[in-house]
Amino acid sequence: MLQLDEKLEAIFGEVVRRNAGETEFHQAVREVLESLGRVVAKRPDFTADALIERICEPERQIIFRVPWVDDRGNVQINRGFRVQFNSALGPYKGGIRFHPSVNVGIIKFLGFEQTFKNALTGMPIGGGKGGSDFNPRGRSNGEIMRFCQSFMTELYRHLGEYTDVPAGDIGVGGREIGYMFGQYKRLTNRFEAGVFTGKGLLYGGSRARTEATGYGNTYFVQAMLATRGRSFEGRKCVVSGSGNVAIYTMEKIREFGGTIVACSDSNGYIVDEKGIDLDLVKEIKEVRRARISEYHRLKGTGTHYIEKGSIWDVACEVAMPSATQNEISGRDARELVKNGVVAVGEGANMPSTPEAVRVFREAGVLFAPGKAANAGGVATSALEMQQNASRDSWTFEQTETRLATIMRGIHDTCAATAEEYGAPGDYVLGANIAGFVRVAESMRALGVI
Ligand code: NDP
Repeated sequence: MLQLDEKLEAIFGEVVRRNAGETEFHQAVREVLESLGRVVAKRPDFTADALIERICEPERQIIFRVPWVDDRGNVQINRGFRVQFNSALGPYKGGIRFHPSVNVGIIKFLGFEQTFKNALTGMPIGGGKGGSDFNPRGRSNGEIMRFCQSFMTELYRHLGEYTDVPAGDIGVGGREIGYMFGQYKRLTNRFEAGVFTGKGLLYGGSRARTEATGYGNTYFVQAMLATRGRSFEGRKCVVSGSGNVAIYTMEKIREFGGTIVACSDSNGYIVDEKGIDLDLVKEIKEVRRARISEYHRLKGTGTHYIEKGSIWDVACEVAMPSATQNEISGRDARELVKNGVVAVGEGANMPSTPEAVRVFREAGVLFAPGKAANAGGVATSALEMQQNASRDSWTFEQTETRLATIMRGIHDTCAATAEEYGAPGDYVLGANIAGFVRVAESMRALGVI
């Protein structure tokens, strides 16, 4: 851990005391505070009126019971969350996660990160995040629908296109968004398209939203590589996960001439040195909703499936963690560096532990933090809101062109901010400071809120 100055250390101590046991939230706050030392030194006005303390405190936290009936007729109980973190720049905006590991600390960390990420996009959106400890794995379509309907029966009263606009995240894709939006529409008797993003194309979705987070991360890494006169062409890449972000990261890397040699799910990882067959991964994960081990069973020779173990043991030049938080440990980072990694682009939120980030920085690896690199998803969500507001529908090319421009803009903002604050090439510092300054300036203009 880096040393904080006295004032920031006191703020951090108070965050830990007020949010006991929420380790992921502490980790996310600490990382931002570690970047703020240079801002506070240059702009002491930012420490006035408890501005930083207010930014670390969510505006509203909602926790609720989600009862539903499974296929056997048994009543099940889950817990639902929505943390409305900051609305200084616009309505709360951030995804919903369904995973058994979800708790208030995880949602709070994601909402905190989201606030700065959304600020970095330059678009008028505040930060929020939600979810449930519901485990969708192995559940029938009917069970998923009944769960989504029950979840929304409580959450709908806190949402609105000018209030709070959710989207997907782990365990929540197009199917779940359809069920939640359907229930919202039924409860409110309003076709309020702008209340959800990641919707299907038939009912107000945006082209390129499904692809946006993975494509956006790849654009960001492309811009980072270019600063050293490099590109994806001919490079070996490893992408963890095989969900929404991972699949579209692999698709764009392939288009840019890179070779993906490994991907994973929560059970294990597959290696295919000839290059992962993405159509097969899509068939396994998006159509059959099966395990990634199927890949090896179907492809056979020349491929491997390793249960447990670490995907980061596979040698690569570009690593794109796209599964979940803290999936790259210090040990994994050292292994990646030893094997010659030149760039890391975080598709997932906070996938690298603080120790891993330190290892990458010390080794001079180009490192794109999630709050900048995976902002393409939410940026395209904001484009979806624009289309909904104007009752318009853009082409794929039009939307992707906007996405690419936004990602290069975020890259350049992070790089310029890092330079301005005396740490050229430090994208972590650049992203944290640029995001913070935008939110802080807006909060200050709005008075003590
Ligand atoms: P998906 O549910 O589509 O995919 C998640 C993938 O990660 C699956 O392959 C899953 O495996 C794997 N995974 C999940 N949890 C774990 C775990 N604990 N250990 C190992 N593997 C795990 O989610 P997304 O692709 O949407 O999200 C992935 C990451 O990207 C998350 O951190 C999310 O917050 C972040 N993100 C997503 C955005 C989006 O637009 N969807 C936007 C910005 C960030 P399995 O199938 O076995 O569960």
